Amino acid sequence: MIRAPELIQRKRDGGELAAEEIRELVLAYVRGEVPDYQMAAFCMAVYFRGLSPLETFALTQAMIASGDTIDLRSEVGRPVVDKHSTGGVGDKTSLAVGPIVAACGVPFGKMSGRGLGHTGGTLDKLESIPGFRVELSADEFVMQVRDVGLAIIGQTADLVPADKLLYGLRDVTATVENVSLIASSIMSKKIAAGADAIVLDVKVGDGAFMKTLEDARELARAMLELGGRANRRVVCVLTDMDQPLGSAVGNALEIRETLDTLRGQGPADFAELVLDASAHLLALSDLGVDEREGHARAAAAIQSGSALEMYERWIRAQGGDPRPEVLATAPTVEPVAAGSEGYVHAVGAIAVGTAALHLGAGRRTKDDAIDHAVGIRVLKKRGDAVAAGELLAEVHARNENAAAEASESVRAAYRIAPEAPPVGPIVLETIR
Ligand code: URA
Repeated sequence: MIRAPELIQRKRDGGELAAEEIRELVLAYVRGEVPDYQMAAFCMAVYFRGLSPLETFALTQAMIASGDTIDLRSEVGRPVVDKHSTGGVGDKTSLAVGPIVAACGVPFGKMSGRGLGHTGGTLDKLESIPGFRVELSADEFVMQVRDVGLAIIGQTADLVPADKLLYGLRDVTATVENVSLIASSIMSKKIAAGADAIVLDVKVGDGAFMKTLEDARELARAMLELGGRANRRVVCVLTDMDQPLGSAVGNALEIRETLDTLRGQGPADFAELVLDASAHLLALSDLGVDEREGHARAAAAIQSGSALEMYERWIRAQGGDPRPEVLATAPTVEPVAAGSEGYVHAVGAIAVGTAALHLGAGRRTKDDAIDHAVGIRVLKKRGDAVAAGELLAEVHARNENAAAEASESVRAAYRIAPEAPPVGPIVLETIR
């Protein structure tokens, strides 16, 4: 019988738990033998005392052991790559990276989540494509990665059930923001889903979990360590989330922007991140190329149209219609104009994400329905010069009231000043 109070007390007092003790605690919790209040107390003790690297790995392994795992390498017959983002505003990177990498001959398999709060979820974006199925079985997932070279699906229920329970508990007990708990939560799902090589995009800034570079580095190092211990090849890119990524924020709008990017006509920051992440994945794959060559091949896949062809093949394979004209459009499009001339210093990511959420592009609780047509196009970004009255952004809304409210919020998210601000790259750091 598990002695939960003793383990909680030891962690509370700053002691270290053995791997076997952590495993027993997690598995007993999933079996319902440890109640929520004891697990919540344990999470709070971890929040204040932290976990050692060995304890963090033990927690990750215990969560993986709570459910099924997929051995993609042996099922597909080759190493498979995956990409994950810690979540941001306008982040549709996987939707472009998957087709590019697959068009370069590297199998890409990803299980994704839904959006909550001001950040969007990959599955919600994909569901704005008429007919697209995100709920494939694990067997269908493996088959599609093998036959098409690309699949992105919702996480199956039997994969890491401990994380589902623990995350729900952490969410309501103020214990989400701990590096060991976040790292083990993300990496347990990545490792269980079976990819050999993973690019982790750790978002930094106003619109992200990690507000500072130091915090993002700490999370990146913890995830790299977990990946290394599990024999996965991992690269972390730390990327700017002080302003929305690209222009589009909102589901169908983001699918259109993905298509533009696969045609070589995407916004500069988004296109740069897509090429960078694709280059890392190609260099981590079995192609035997370095990042420079990976970058050249990714750019060539866009140039030749093969990435776009792969996108269309993938969407059809999951039942969707890849044509942009079938995507939903909002009945009201309202321009947001600059009140004064100058340079854009800031476009608050949380403010834009929250305005999109209020328009109906996201969900406040996990059962909310999504309006795929609505959202915001951020047309001027940090460093851009603007004239008074010039178009800053567009609000795509269901009705005029919603459009007026969102336009006010988007206008307030902009800070315009007379001098040009410094503008940095989208990728702030790469940690291997
Ligand atoms: N994303 C996850 O999957 N888990 C966390 O704990 C935080 C972000």
